[in-house]
Amino acid sequence: MSEQNSILVTGGAGFIGSNFILEWFAAGETASVVNLDLLTYAGNPANLASLQDNPAYTLVHGDICDQALVTELFTTHRPRAIVHFAAESHVDRSIVGPEAFLRTNIDGTFNLLRAARAYYDTLEGAEKEAFRFLHVSTDEVYGTLSPTDPAFHENTPFAPNSPYAASKASSDHLVRAWQHTYGLPTLITNCSNNYGPYQFPEKLIPLMINNALSGKPLPIYGDGQQVRDWLYVGDHCSAIRTVLATGRIGETYNVGGGNQRANLDVVETVCGLLDELRPASPHAPHIQLKRYVQDRPGHDRRYAIDATKLETELGWRAAESFETGLRKTIEWYLANPEWIESVTSGAYQQWISKNYGHR
Ligand code: NAD
Repeated sequence: MSEQNSILVTGGAGFIGSNFILEWFAAGETASVVNLDLLTYAGNPANLASLQDNPAYTLVHGDICDQALVTELFTTHRPRAIVHFAAESHVDRSIVGPEAFLRTNIDGTFNLLRAARAYYDTLEGAEKEAFRFLHVSTDEVYGTLSPTDPAFHENTPFAPNSPYAASKASSDHLVRAWQHTYGLPTLITNCSNNYGPYQFPEKLIPLMINNALSGKPLPIYGDGQQVRDWLYVGDHCSAIRTVLATGRIGETYNVGGGNQRANLDVVETVCGLLDELRPASPHAPHIQLKRYVQDRPGHDRRYAIDATKLETELGWRAAESFETGLRKTIEWYLANPEWIESVTSGAYQQWISKNYGHR
C-alpha cells in the first residue's frame, strides 16, 4: 500500500461506519480504507460485501483495545487519518451491562490515542501536516434538555446521564486532552440520532419497521414524548468527510439536521409510510400494534443540536429532510428483507464464527 494513501476506520462494519465506507468509495475518495472491527453483534461484514473484490478495502477482524494490533496497523498501513467509530452504542445495553462500554469506549479510545501519538511522532513534513485523528461522538454527552432550553452547542457543558453517554463523554475528554497535551491533531464530531440503511433493529426506527412488518407489538417507552433530533446517516457521513477534510485541528463540531421529533411521532410516521408502501393484511393500520411499556431508567427527555458552526464554518448542509430520509430508509428495509432476517436470526454471527473464528 502506498504511503499515507489510506485511512484507518474503526467500527466500520457497524451501522454508521459501513455507510461511511460505502459512501467514501462512492464519493470517489482516493485513499484506501483499512477497517478494524471486532465484529460484535452490531458489526456485520455483509454490509460491505459489495467491496469484497475492491483492493482498496481491507477488513481486519480485531479489537481496538489490542495494543499490539493497533500499533501494527499504524506501522504497516501508515494511514493519513483515523476515523474512530468503534463503540458499544446502545443505551439500554449500557444500563444492563456497562462493563463493555467502559472497556471499548474508554480503554479502546485511549489505546488508539496512544498508538496514534506514537505513529504521529514518527511522521515528518507534509505527512505530519496531513495527519488527523477524527473521533465520532454523540450529542448524548450533553445530557438532557427541557422543552424550552436552547439546542446543544459546542460549548454546552457535558452532563451525561447514561453509562453509554458517560463512556462517550470520557472518550471525548481523552481526545481533547491528547490534542492539548501532546499536540495530536484531533477533531471531534458530536452528532444527534441517526437512522438509515444497515441499522441494527434494536434502535427505535429499524425496531419499529421490523416489528410492524412482522405484526409484532411496537413498544413505546413511557409517554413516548421523548424528543430526539433525527439525522439521515448519509448526512452524518458527509459531515464527517467535511470535518476530516477542512475541520480546524482541536475543534469539536456538532452535527444535526434540525429535525426534532417526539418518539411517538416517529413511530406514527413510520407506520403511516408502511401503510402506504406495504399495507398490512387485512389492511389494519400498523399503528394499532403500538404498546406503551415502562420507561427506560433515567431516560433523557429531549436532545436538540445546533449545527451552526459546521454549517457556517465548513459549509456543510444536510441533504435529507426527516420525511425524505425516512422514506428512503423504509424503502431500503422493504427491499432488503434478507438483511433483517440474517441479523435477527443470528445467521451472520454463524457466518462470522465460520469465517473469522470465535471472538
Ligand atoms: P454500531 O453499534 O452499529 O457499530 C459499532 C461497531 O463497532 C460495530 O461494527 C462493532 O463490531 C464495532 N466494535 C465494537 N467494539 C469494538 C472493539 N472493541 N474493537 C473494534 N470494533 C468494535 O454503532 P453506530 O450506531 O454505527 O455508531 C458508531 C459511532 O457513532 C459510535 O461511536 C457512536 O457513539 C456514534 N454515534 C452514533 C449515533 C447513532 O445514532 N447511531 C449518533 C451519534 C454518534
